[in-house]
Amino acid sequence: MMLSTSEDFIVPGVPVIKITCPFGIPPLRSSSSPSTKVFMRSKQSPVLAYMHISNIYLMDNHVNAPASSEYFFIPRIYHWYMGIVRFGPLVLRWCLNCNIPVVEQDTCELCKSQTVEVPVTPPGDIKPAFPREIRMFRKIVDAQFGEGCGRALFPQKKIVVLNPVPSVDKMYEVILDGQVVGAVRYDFNKKWQMILRMEGAFRVEKTLTRNYVVADEGAIVPVLNGSNLMAVGVVDACPEVAPGNEVLVLDKDKHVFASGVAKMSAAEMLAARNAEERKGVAVKVRWREAWRAPRVLPDRYSTWDKIAEGSAGALDKKESMAINFIQNVIKKYNKPVAVSFSGGKDSLVTLMLVLKAGVNPKIFFIDTGLEFPETREYVHAIAKKFGVEVLSESAGEAFWENVSTFGPPGRDFRWCCKVCKLAPTSRLISKNFPEGVLVFIGQRVYESEQRAQKGNVWENPWVPGQIGASPVQYWNALHVWLYIFREGLDINPWYLEGLERIGCYLCPAGTMGDFSIVRKKFAGMKNWERYLQKYCEEHKLPEEYVKYGLWRWRSLPAGIKDFLGAVQIPAKYPETLKLDLAEGYSPCTGGISIEGIYNAQLDIERIANLLNIVGTVKLYRDAGFCETQNIKIFAQGAVIVKGKDTQELREHLSRLHAVVMKSVYCVKCGICVARCPQNAISFDEKGIRIDEGVCKHCGSCLQPCPAIAYKVEQDVW
Ligand code: SF4
Ligand code: SF4
Ligand code: SF4
Repeated sequence: MMLSTSEDFIVPGVPVIKITCPFGIPPLRSSSSPSTKVFMRSKQSPVLAYMHISNIYLMDNHVNAPASSEYFFIPRIYHWYMGIVRFGPLVLRWCLNCNIPVVEQDTCELCKSQTVEVPVTPPGDIKPAFPREIRMFRKIVDAQFGEGCGRALFPQKKIVVLNPVPSVDKMYEVILDGQVVGAVRYDFNKKWQMILRMEGAFRVEKTLTRNYVVADEGAIVPVLNGSNLMAVGVVDACPEVAPGNEVLVLDKDKHVFASGVAKMSAAEMLAARNAEERKGVAVKVRWREAWRAPRVLPDRYSTWDKIAEGSAGALDKKESMAINFIQNVIKKYNKPVAVSFSGGKDSLVTLMLVLKAGVNPKIFFIDTGLEFPETREYVHAIAKKFGVEVLSESAGEAFWENVSTFGPPGRDFRWCCKVCKLAPTSRLISKNFPEGVLVFIGQRVYESEQRAQKGNVWENPWVPGQIGASPVQYWNALHVWLYIFREGLDINPWYLEGLERIGCYLCPAGTMGDFSIVRKKFAGMKNWERYLQKYCEEHKLPEEYVKYGLWRWRSLPAGIKDFLGAVQIPAKYPETLKLDLAEGYSPCTGGISIEGIYNAQLDIERIANLLNIVGTVKLYRDAGFCETQNIKIFAQGAVIVKGKDTQELREHLSRLHAVVMKSVYCVKCGICVARCPQNAISFDEKGIRIDEGVCKHCGSCLQPCPAIAYKVEQDVW
């Protein structure tokens, strides 16, 4: 069940309940911001739904919303900085007896006791924390709260899982002993920070020597009741406390009862306390709870293969459904079978499932030219281990050859996916499977809204001849990881470093936190940063373009804009080829016509050649123009287009524009070459060339084409 409007949520006459905002989001007068959403689920369905909360008001960190018998659970309210909405059931449960995470099941298969739900932020695409990550977390906690705090929070052999949550950059909720103990966050000032919840705060209390504030006895009750800690209520503070630091608030017996962010330095807090006017917030409190002992559970299992046994039933069910799906899709499409293997965890599980379905597939490995060397080695090692043939195609230097044309790729401007992934995929398919191929791909709905909207079998318009199908479409990351551990599969070593996704090292979908991990281990990242620096200087962009990774968007999301505040960003990239049309149509023989002009001289011979895509062409070389039945175009950029009505006119215009864009911006990706049924397209030094004696003017090669899709004038920020 999905809710799409706020009206679905408002039930007249139903009492209003108050829900504490778990993120301590500051009070808003009106939450009409489209980036604020309420997540909920109904009794009838475990599927999370969302809506914009344009008529719900956040007040004093609470949201007023009506309770009804139908909508009984509102797990989280948050600012979704990247504007991404994801769907899927929450699957993280915990066996308190074995002290292990369990996926989906009410019962732990190891001890048969009941599991409990862990209330994490949706969608809850949980991953294990690997030893290197845990070591990094310990260091972060030690640096913030004092030597020994890291070990107190993350004892040896403790099983820890991480839940990626929305943030300006990278952030995980940290879960151990079945509880969220805090969140680790990377901020744009290139720092990792641990934000402790009360369970985490209680655990570090005994070793706490830094970033604490001691509160007056009279301040404890107001803070526990929801107030911030005012300067007047501070009796002592660690001298290192500075505005923006994560701090813990103690009572006079040095027991923690709140966690939050300092709004003043220690000196300012104490000065404000002694001043006549005792005003100002010393600590903005995020989490609060009267002191209690931490709920530490004993550790019974420390290996992930054993932990996966606790979820055996859920994993068996997922596996058998996936195998059924694979067998049915193969039967339905009756095509040769391949698995697209990127070296990531989802494609690894997909490969395993296809093999278990009794199929002997080929592996497709598309080397974008931006892969980690370890990924290339890993793909071949896995293929060898399972005795599967790898069909590989490389984009070579395509990224570097095209980056000067397109500029850095963005999350909303993924030209490189077309040039470096889909184009080689098209080449690989047309070379090896001219009659088409069924490719199993490890895509999951939890990964993105786009993927959530896609079914589990699809045709990709960019890759002719390929039917894509995902047997793991509805798997959560925890299913995937536990399955990998259960099957004893080797993983790409970059996961152990803390990357959540494996792929191109400079992908704009990456976070600055990811890049900070990559930079330490991979020299190629420094080259990319040098390129960005140069690009930034040449285009007179502000230093934040590189520093905060703003190159990752053409149009900045609201959360990033809010974060940047006063930073001045120029309005546009340099102009690209543009067609200006005259206003209105003129009547002409057999219909209407329109005139327009390009803002540049055109290579009329090349355009004449490519115009074959839309019809028979006559070139008047000396006069500097060419024409088809409905189009006339001149070397100086002028165009005249005819049609019997406005709709036909628009169609001719759009085809002409596509041809002109191809003639100027072709990046030789090869997508159109693979689409031509006559094999009429080849390359010359500037781009594609059509064999005019062979071309049947069918138009199949016109789109899709990255030169058209991406080299259009774009507003930037
Ligand atoms: S960098 Fe990212 S967007 Fe570009 S090809 Fe690689 S995965 Fe696709
Ligand atoms: S014209 Fe063909 S080869 Fe050139 S960019 Fe477009 S699709 Fe690729
Ligand atoms: S697909 Fe081939 S035959 Fe059809 S218009 Fe393009 S070049 Fe001509």
